[in-house]
Amino acid sequence: MPQSEAQSNAVAATAGKVPLDVAAISQELEAASSSDILDWAARTFAPRVTFGIGFGVEGCVLIHLIAERKLPIDLFTLDTGLLFPETYELWTALETRYGVRIRPVRPVQTVEVQALHWGPQLWARDPNKCCELRKVEPLRRAIAGMEAWISAIRRDQTPERATAPVVAQDKRFGVVKINPLVRWTAKDIWKFVLANEVPYNRLHDEGYPSIGCHPCTTPVGEGEDPRSGRWRGQSKNECGLHVGQPAAEQS
Ligand code: SF4
Repeated sequence: MPQSEAQSNAVAATAGKVPLDVAAISQELEAASSSDILDWAARTFAPRVTFGIGFGVEGCVLIHLIAERKLPIDLFTLDTGLLFPETYELWTALETRYGVRIRPVRPVQTVEVQALHWGPQLWARDPNKCCELRKVEPLRRAIAGMEAWISAIRRDQTPERATAPVVAQDKRFGVVKINPLVRWTAKDIWKFVLANEVPYNRLHDEGYPSIGCHPCTTPVGEGEDPRSGRWRGQSKNECGLHVGQPAAEQS
């Protein structure tokens, strides 16, 4: 496929490992296809570029796009030990269908050891602490040594994600963060999944539009916000992986 003008400019801007002007690159890639963004990410950062799949339907689309182009992008998932059985089934299905390995990154403490140290069901009393222990700290280890981290977030998922750029400097984790699907709508995602028979979590067909750990995920009723089933009844609506940077720092 011919390289787009946006890609050419972006690649020129990164030639010779000069410091990246992520704001300019993000603007140039704003209109690029997700596949072109992934190509750019692999060319610019491989082997120090990774994609952390949370097994949402968007992540399944990214695995499809990465695998069909055989891009040298590391794949991992944060296995909190509290995922749904259906999510573990999907993990196996994706590895089988696409011939890839999604490496597990686990918390330092098992669920049982965490209960001994912090008390049982920490997620019900202090979900931020629980996410810090079981997601944020493992993420730091997962991306240690990496230069770039790919995520599957979309702008229309939450108000916090509405201004997410295609490329940003993630100062919390010290990597470039790349969001190839930011412009996709939920309709775009499902059209692609059905057309390409991409494996997805069957809980999506049972009223779970957004799926995380089983203690913090409930089905969503008709007309409810798709993410309202996450941490229901609490003010929390992000696990702490994709927030925390002032908008001005994201460019
Ligand atoms: S989603 Fe819930 S169970 Fe999972 S790490 Fe966060 S608070 Fe803990």
